[in-house]
Amino acid sequence: MDKESFRDSIATADPKGRRLWVYPGKPKGRLYTARSIVAYALLAFFFITPFLKFNGHPIILLDVLERNFIIFGLIFKPQDFYILVLVALTLLVFIVLFTAVFGRLFCGWVCPQTIFLEMVFRRIDYWIDGRPGQQKKLDKAPWGFKKIFKRFLKHSIFMGVSIIICHFSLAYIIGIDGTLALVTQPPWNHSTGFIAMITFCFLFYGVFSWFREQACTLVCPYGRLQSVLIDSNSIIVAYDYNRGEPRGKYIKGKENNSLGDCIECQACVRVCPTGIDIRNGTQLECVNCSACIDACNSVMRKTKRPEGLIRYTSENSLSEVTKPKSTGRIIVYSVVLILLLSLSLSLLTARTNIEAIILRAPGSLYFEGDNNAIQNLYTVKLSNKTFEEIPLSFRLKEPTDGTLSMVSGMIVLEPEEITESAFLVDFPRKQLFGSSVMITIEVISRDEVIDEITTSFMGPDRMKEKSD
Ligand code: SF4
Ligand code: SF4
Repeated sequence: MDKESFRDSIATADPKGRRLWVYPGKPKGRLYTARSIVAYALLAFFFITPFLKFNGHPIILLDVLERNFIIFGLIFKPQDFYILVLVALTLLVFIVLFTAVFGRLFCGWVCPQTIFLEMVFRRIDYWIDGRPGQQKKLDKAPWGFKKIFKRFLKHSIFMGVSIIICHFSLAYIIGIDGTLALVTQPPWNHSTGFIAMITFCFLFYGVFSWFREQACTLVCPYGRLQSVLIDSNSIIVAYDYNRGEPRGKYIKGKENNSLGDCIECQACVRVCPTGIDIRNGTQLECVNCSACIDACNSVMRKTKRPEGLIRYTSENSLSEVTKPKSTGRIIVYSVVLILLLSLSLSLLTARTNIEAIILRAPGSLYFEGDNNAIQNLYTVKLSNKTFEEIPLSFRLKEPTDGTLSMVSGMIVLEPEEITESAFLVDFPRKQLFGSSVMITIEVISRDEVIDEITTSFMGPDRMKEKSD
């Protein structure tokens, strides 16, 4: 058979395209323990964060529906979207750089799909259906009391866990109080939200109980990008063919020195959650979960050979037996990342709690007021990005011979309020030396100047007036 023929099909479908169910064994080893600790920490973060509040508000709120974001106590309103877009871009470049260096490490260690599937749902499989062989046997067994009972129990738990995950995900969008209010009210009070929640609960249930590894191998766009993001210097989970080949059975006491270290035990294949054989080389389906490393290391220890026949390394390290090295691509990504990071940080630190945008009132140029004064009307869009009430006033800083008067008196911004107001600026006609002069307005809160805005003041064309 052609050595590359495994690339013609995926391990989870037969030649007719029918799904082949994967029954991976439970990994055991140092990396699985480390991965479990990371997963527990992330699960704790996911389930605890919605309850954490700062000044009575969630520390993280991602309300995409109302375009209201709170990230570690900082409020981001629609006016701040350029910062969020820049931060998202920085994150994207970070992911590209991270992937170019460490391959698909994110998928195996941090991705919510892997964590929920491998650390929650797969463990329920082991707990109720038993080891992979027992799971397979139960699947093939005719329907009887035992199978119906186990299926009912397992899928009820799957559905219960999906409902919990779905509601905690919702808490990141509408807050834990909003979520609790929704679940304690009758569904007909919020029928649209209720239908959306039912849909998402079934979606989570479908993904984790049935679709499983197909999400990583067929759907995930990040997985699809691997082929362009990683190169032969990226760190991947790889089988050391220099050491492993030629493969041969291990017979205790009758070691064959002409054979490599791989003893064809298939332990690495049996634990793979995507059903692949990593000894065939780098494959798109590999989520870098490291289960095969733990399995093979255990075999190596038992057969008294050095660990690391399967390990985290790069293709170049394997072929050239050198350490992974930086490439021009990595250096360029790093420079772009540092630039974006610096820009994001400077915008974040320069970001003010109050945003005031001053615009000339639409359709107006200038008015002629009492005592030969020229007046301009301005509208001001205000946004309070804090949880406090903020009094605001405006003062004309330059030129000093004009006056500024609010149309609606003193402004008091409610917490998180976005509103509009208006003010008039007037100058004595004789003080104007042109049809447009630049003026500077101070934004004042509690006797403190919190912002200065420069805009233009329009007046009559004095040259034209003189010639007339
Ligand atoms: S677990 Fe190791 S020794 Fe066993 S088949 Fe896989 S690579 Fe070979
Ligand atoms: S090949 Fe190894 S690292 Fe890749 S998905 Fe399978 S078990 Fe995980």
